[in-house]
Order: sequence, then structure tokens, then C-alpha cells
Amino acid sequence: MAEYVNKTELIEYINNAIEEYVAQGQNARAKAAAKIGVFVREIPVYGAKEKKSGTWVVPGATEQKLLALGNYKCSECGSMAIHRHNYCPNCGSYMGSV
Ligand SMILES: [Zn+2]
Repeated sequence: MAEYVNKTELIEYINNAIEEYVAQGQNARAKAAAKIGVFVREIPVYGAKEKKSGTWVVPGATEQKLLALGNYKCSECGSMAIHRHNYCPNCGSYMGSV
């Protein structure tokens, strides 16, 4: 099973660490954390082949019975998901904050 990291939260965590290191006068650690922060910002989001955006659609009862694969359908690729994610795990479309 794939594991996902919330990039925004990770960057926020790193930024907080930088602030703490600066406050403690640990400049070498702050610089190292800043370097990691820059690297993380550059990492492309997993599965995001292009910047598409979509929405999670709740299929009708008949379609849900036929597919029986999930509760939500990606408006872009039609893949089903049990839970709403920020990104479609299949096509990488950004679905907004959920
Ligand atoms: Zn999709």
C-alpha cells in the first residue's frame, strides 16, 4: 500500500525546526534544515503528471452497486476511491483540500 506525505505539513514542520534552531543559536542545524526544506519544496507531488484538478463525485446508487469499488469517483479519470484524498491516487488530479 502506498504511503503519502502531506508536503505542505512537512515544509511547515521543517520551517518550525529552522525557527527553533535559530532561536537556540544552532545556526549549522538551521542551515541544514533550510537545505532540506528547499529540497522538499522541489520534489514533485507523487502521481501528479500534470497540473489537473478534479472533484470527488458521489456516484448514483446503481453505479455504486455495479462498481462496488468505492464511495467516490474521480471526475477526471473515473477511478473509484473509498476515501476522498487531496489528490486522486490514480491520475494525480488535485481535488482540493479535503
Ligand atoms: Zn483521477
